[in-house]
Amino acid sequence: MRIFSGIQPTGRKHLGNYIGAIVQWVAGQDRGDALYCLVDLHAITVPYEPPALREAVYDTAATLLAAGLDPDRCIFFRQGDVHEHAELCWLLSSVTAYGDLTRMTQFKDKAGSQRELVSAGLFFYPVLQAADVLAYRAHEVPVGEDQRQHVELMRDVAERFNTRFGEALVVPEVRVPEIGARIMDLQFPDRKMSTTGGSPQGTVYVTEEPDAIVKKFRSAVTDSGTEVVRAPDKAGISNLIDILAAVRGSSPEEVEASFNGSGYGAFKHAVADAVVEYLAPVRERYLQLRPDESELERILMAGAEKARAIASDTMVDVREAMGVGPVRRRQ
Ligand code: ATP
Ligand code: MG
Repeated sequence: MRIFSGIQPTGRKHLGNYIGAIVQWVAGQDRGDALYCLVDLHAITVPYEPPALREAVYDTAATLLAAGLDPDRCIFFRQGDVHEHAELCWLLSSVTAYGDLTRMTQFKDKAGSQRELVSAGLFFYPVLQAADVLAYRAHEVPVGEDQRQHVELMRDVAERFNTRFGEALVVPEVRVPEIGARIMDLQFPDRKMSTTGGSPQGTVYVTEEPDAIVKKFRSAVTDSGTEVVRAPDKAGISNLIDILAAVRGSSPEEVEASFNGSGYGAFKHAVADAVVEYLAPVRERYLQLRPDESELERILMAGAEKARAIASDTMVDVREAMGVGPVRRRQ
């Protein structure tokens, strides 16, 4: 069973990324052959500074290794190092429906918040994402809830390819965590916690200082009630319940039961303490790993080499099936 997922190297990743994706990635190493990718080619679809991107690659790489990715048990690499992703993206564009791309909510959200250029790359993002996964013929894609639509699209792309050109690709399944698939911004609990679109006070970073984390939870937006229960009109409290359930490895019902009658103040305090404790070992390992950039680079390069071996194999089949390039000489 092959697992593939990617994360944007936007530097400090947040608690939503951690609970929604990273925890699943670490567990995936024991469930199958896992490939995990820092998607720098995706990160360039919104305004960015080239030197900052390189720094952010190391920040994100160190965060993931600190969280428990083990280069001996998974293939961990940088997307831009494996040219097959970009080539496959173009080939797959011919079996991607333009109309489907116009329905992608991530594009609509991100395009709406751009003040300057809305790049064609932002529109094409899901095609490159399809190529990321399909290049490895992965069976499973562990992601947060917001990426479900993109995985649906890549399934359609793979199916259309297989129908049109023959069964060269695997149609992948999405894997979304039961609790914490959509962690919300602490200040705007109607929006997901986000790297590029979140509020500074509402976004808790994996490697953030404990004091700052406590402050953010203390000022989390709630409602005028007092009961620690989930409800449609209690988005803030519902989010905090989910966070605590995910961190404790329990259910939201158990969290509600254990804070029955305790009020919001004590509850927020408990969530803050639990998150600080949960992230402390990751932060500690991050601080040890981050300074050694040549070691991080070595890990990513070694990962890219292994990834390339798999992806180039897929490309031979895809090019052959599509009639691109000369007929393959059988060996
Ligand atoms: P951006 O907002 O710029 O897209 P991001 O915060 O979504 O950034 P990504 O690198 O795009 O970060 O996402 C990495 C993984 O984290 C994806 O699997 C995504 O589904 C998951 N994820 C992102 N935000 C959340 C969230 N708020 N709750 C749960 N999972 C999330
Ligand atoms: Mg995202």
